[in-house]
Amino acid sequence: MSTPNFHDLISDAQLHKAIDALGYTQPTSVQLAAIPDALAGKDLLVSSKTGSGKTAAFLLPSLQRILASPSANTNSTRILILTPTRELARQIVKNAEQLLRFTSVKVAMICGGEELKYQKALLRKNPEIVVGTPGRLAEHIAHKSTEFSGLEVLVLDEADRMLEMGLHEDVLKIANTCATQRQTLLFSATLEVKGLRHLISQVVLGDAKEIHIDDAPNRINQQMILADDIKHKEKLLIELLAKAVYEKVIVFTNTKIKAAQLDGLLRYSKYRVSALHGDVTQDQRKIALDLFRQGKTQVLVATDVAARGLDIPGVDLVINFDMAHSGDEYVHRIGRTGRADAEGRAVSLVSAADWNLTKGIERYLRVEFEKMALPGLTASYKGPDKTKSSGKAVGTKKKEPTKDKKTSVEKIKVRERDKKNIGKRRAPSATNKSVDVPTVVVDGFAPPKKKISRIEDADE
Ligand code: ADP
Ligand code: MG
Repeated sequence: MSTPNFHDLISDAQLHKAIDALGYTQPTSVQLAAIPDALAGKDLLVSSKTGSGKTAAFLLPSLQRILASPSANTNSTRILILTPTRELARQIVKNAEQLLRFTSVKVAMICGGEELKYQKALLRKNPEIVVGTPGRLAEHIAHKSTEFSGLEVLVLDEADRMLEMGLHEDVLKIANTCATQRQTLLFSATLEVKGLRHLISQVVLGDAKEIHIDDAPNRINQQMILADDIKHKEKLLIELLAKAVYEKVIVFTNTKIKAAQLDGLLRYSKYRVSALHGDVTQDQRKIALDLFRQGKTQVLVATDVAARGLDIPGVDLVINFDMAHSGDEYVHRIGRTGRADAEGRAVSLVSAADWNLTKGIERYLRVEFEKMALPGLTASYKGPDKTKSSGKAVGTKKKEPTKDKKTSVEKIKVRERDKKNIGKRRAPSATNKSVDVPTVVVDGFAPPKKKISRIEDADE
């Protein structure tokens, strides 16, 4: 039997025309798996790797649903999509508009950084589809300017990230104003964050079906370069940007201050740079990303605000100026490259301060970063003198700043694929054991999370 195509999955002729216009010929694995269940009205919890086409996996069945039947309640929004960042909301609006180009269905974007009054007017026009960030939408709910009583589909894209940003209450507040007979769809490449099951139990009203796609990993060449200190990292960055072959590059930092500094440094070095972080105004953020998308800037310096969901053609290099705070965030950062089966490269600059985190991430992802050095810029730092079986440095604990103590407790990562039988409460399968990492369970292998600075750049 041949694999189903879009005609087997979606019946609406206008959607077909739009799918053709986008050049999609075959549904991706996640689309094949999720679309029929979504069309059957099931609540879903879906994970699949970055760049695998999750957006269309939730948009197509939702749009098919509203195109197939008129609304029972013409005042109400029919589809509501929540995302952690404004940039991702804008991208989803664009995707939805592309799919709806042969119809008259309207999409409204409701995010922070824009005028409430203007958004209230938008909402008064009863848009069938609303895409937005939870903070601002919760504000509109307080003002009673939304109408979700007839909502048919609620989508939480990058659901885990919204939780990490502390948006649980806002998401809940919004969900509580949505029709109870709605369908709820949660999507992300990573769905293991603490508290997510709790949120799901509150937001998903029935039993959610879990779909976890275990395709071959993305083709991203993951490398690391040892660095002595920040000044050395800056030299490495300049050298990498000068010598590496790339079309577009994203440079990630852990703080907005560092992102702003690198923006300045790279401009001074005559690079065409866009900057995206919480200290940039909404207008500037939009312009920065537009310029980067259009290729008018070649470098994007960003905090984790740009780590989730953004689909920018031509990004073939990601540089972690600072190592990501967690394995999941690392996955999302490097997932800005190697999308839709393209190849990509990720280079992390690793100083003594990043060492343990880096080792934790390698173990968590079961990869070994390829070590490389740049001629003339080899670090004096060669890694810790003594390492534990985990690869982490021996005796460095005390040097860690005390404020991180509380959050540096390690937890054992349970991968989604080991939890496929979770509903049956069966013990996780032997997958962990079969992996060739003997010390996996001994001291855990999820890298520590430093929540404080992640929320620093919370969006709205
Ligand atoms: P994810 O949300 O899983 O990270 P996206 O939904 O952003 O991934 O999709 C990644 C890229 O793949 C986008 O550029 C999108 O247009 C493209 N894409 C999605 N579905 C298909 C398809 N069926 N065929 C070809 N390209 C697709
Ligand atoms: Mg996505």
